[in-house]
Amino acid sequence: MTALTSLAKITKPHVPDQLLLIDGKWIPSVSGKTFETINPATGEVICRVAEGDKADVDLAVAAARRAFESGPWSKMSASHRGRLINRLADLIEKNIHELAALESLDNGKPVGDAIAADLPLVIRAYRYYAGWADKYHGKTIPVEGDFFCYTRHEPVGVVGQIIPWNFPLLMQAWKWGPALATGCTIVLKPAEQTPLSALAVAKLAQEAGFPDGVINVVPGFGPTAGAALSSHMDVDKIAFTGEHTTGQIIMEAAARSNLKRVSLELGGKSPNIVFADADIDAAVEGSWFGLFFNQGQCCCAGSRLFVEESIHDVFVEKMLAKVKAQKVGDPFEQGVTQGPQVSAEQRDRILSFIESGKAEGAKLLSGGGSPGGPGYFIEPTVFTGVEDHMRIARHEIFGPVMNILKFKDIDDVISRGNNSFFGLAAAVWTTDINKALKVSNSLRAGTVWVNCYDVFDAAAPFGGFKMSGIGRELGEYALQMYTEVKTVYMALGR
Ligand code: NAP
Ligand code: MG
Repeated sequence: MTALTSLAKITKPHVPDQLLLIDGKWIPSVSGKTFETINPATGEVICRVAEGDKADVDLAVAAARRAFESGPWSKMSASHRGRLINRLADLIEKNIHELAALESLDNGKPVGDAIAADLPLVIRAYRYYAGWADKYHGKTIPVEGDFFCYTRHEPVGVVGQIIPWNFPLLMQAWKWGPALATGCTIVLKPAEQTPLSALAVAKLAQEAGFPDGVINVVPGFGPTAGAALSSHMDVDKIAFTGEHTTGQIIMEAAARSNLKRVSLELGGKSPNIVFADADIDAAVEGSWFGLFFNQGQCCCAGSRLFVEESIHDVFVEKMLAKVKAQKVGDPFEQGVTQGPQVSAEQRDRILSFIESGKAEGAKLLSGGGSPGGPGYFIEPTVFTGVEDHMRIARHEIFGPVMNILKFKDIDDVISRGNNSFFGLAAAVWTTDINKALKVSNSLRAGTVWVNCYDVFDAAAPFGGFKMSGIGRELGEYALQMYTEVKTVYMALGR
């Protein structure tokens, strides 16, 4: 909260044009092309960014390969790597206001949210993985015969990382933390909508002392730079967060090239279930946050809100009061709780979902449109009478659109909750421990929150069942995705 009290000091930064970081040097793209990054609150151009493509990805991968095989990084002790990651965390902490302002400018999230929610999680993720650097080790194994057998956890190698625009700094931290802790080298492609904070952290990483080539950042577009990375023959692993259809393209590219390892953190349509015996005020507050946080642009948003019939009307009334109190506006303005969507494309996509909800017979209780103006704003929207078959109940909307569905009993809601090709997250609100256990055990989801929503910690894994992904980020589990296990047998007494 100390950060929030100094919000008044935070102003919109002026950002110069940006270059690529390859092999420790800031350079233009080989093609000389650049693209604009836009402030979604105004539609204005913030600056131009060098546009990386296949030729730049090739250079970055070659630099990452050299750094992995022969640079100082390859000989550095694990504890030294940990110290560098901690130093990066220190520098992020020191520049917390500048980074939050940049994130807010490029993405549109309220700057207070960036400071109070995103940045602390970012810092914690780097510190957590700094701690792991010298603690993730192999085993000695009592095999048959006269052999000493042990395993080594070796870095997987050069990793390509493709991240989305909804939590740019945090997705970077979730990917860089385990990669750096395990001794991999990195080529990162940030989202075209939000390249700025990734480049700012890359500058801090140089200041922290990471050797040249360990970290390379190539902003650019998915079908060009992203595709070059995922189909590259010399990238050992690709880590991706974004839409499931993009995940499918990336996995196919990985399979058709060099069978690089793939980890995917994809979308969701997470059931958030409120039983009649729940603390209703807490459930309203948590369900509001679970949907509207970050302008609804969360992969784990509780976007199917199931409310038990007997409390439906009172729950909806309380929720509407909360939603109507939402203040939509400039993310740098004090008191604003909802900024713009990240792009005109996303705004229009959300509006088309709202139209489909109306056309399919859901009841629009609040919002439903765009307040207009040059920014990409959407009114906080609430639908009731939503049914499982409707488009708004099946697809990821990724916007401030709440869908409320009624349910009858626990078996009904478990089966409907699981009726989705996604399985990222779920939540249940109840004071009955048996219901909490039954529901959390039965839902096919990577994370289940009981009487809370959107709780994250770097130490606890996050990822999806079904089409919500492959593998887990965060926690010890993420380290598995950045390492190869080597088994060594050594003959004794020969
Ligand atoms: P997206 O296309 O999946 O973008 C995510 C990242 O993948 C971006 O860096 C993107 O690059 C890159 N990419 C796109 N096409 C690629 C390709 N063919 N090969 C390699 N990389 C590629 O998602 P989006 O278009 O930004 O958003 C669309 C929808 O995805 C949203 O409405 C939302 O439903 C979902 N989404 C989910 C998450 C999540 O955390 N689960 C995050 C963001 C979006 P460019 O952006 O530069 O094109
Ligand atoms: Mg895209």
